[in-house]
Amino acid sequence: MTAKLSVGVFCGASTGNSPRYLDVGGDLGRLLAERGHRLVYGAGGVGVMGAVARSTAAGGGHILGVIPEFLRAREMTDDLPSQELVLTGDLFDRKRMMIGGADAFIALPGGYGTVDEVVEVLSMAALGLDVGPLVLIDVAGDWDPFLDMVDGLARRGFARRTDLCHVVGGAAEALDLVEALTVAVVPQARRSESEPARAH
Ligand code: AMP
Repeated sequence: MTAKLSVGVFCGASTGNSPRYLDVGGDLGRLLAERGHRLVYGAGGVGVMGAVARSTAAGGGHILGVIPEFLRAREMTDDLPSQELVLTGDLFDRKRMMIGGADAFIALPGGYGTVDEVVEVLSMAALGLDVGPLVLIDVAGDWDPFLDMVDGLARRGFARRTDLCHVVGGAAEALDLVEALTVAVVPQARRSESEPARAH
């Protein structure tokens, strides 16, 4: 039996320039719900974030949304899907809660915030902290420049490992991989954010 996971999802608060981004976000949300995993995300109703959350909620999935007070008006929409909501004092607390409350991470394409969150998890993994697996979903070559940067860091002797994140082409593959990488160590019961997961 596959363990029920808390999956931290990082993605754009914008829609991107192609409907494919929203479609993949919708796929991920639907599959999270179908497979019984909890979505942990930034509580936005906008952009790809909103697409993921609406589709998780439509499938009856559980959502933990974490957002700093000052972003409520900007990112939370009137049609925000029903979720367990945590308001934080600032962006740092948001990131801490999201990372501490998830067993694994999936990033869809996004902007500065998404890249910031991906780098945060990656840099923690590089320091040997057991944050959980990190899977990037590529829609249109989105992560190529990022992966080039990672390779460049290693080539120039500033990073030792380039295998700390995995790139896949869609939501089902991302969840298959997350489940495979966490299956050995995550207990059957879903973890709560008060009991941060450290599995992979
Ligand atoms: P973006 O990828 O820029 O569209 O942002 C995705 C999400 O990340 C949005 O909810 C932003 O508010 C959030 N975000 C942006 N910068 C940060 C940060 N430094 N720490 C935590 N979240 C952030």
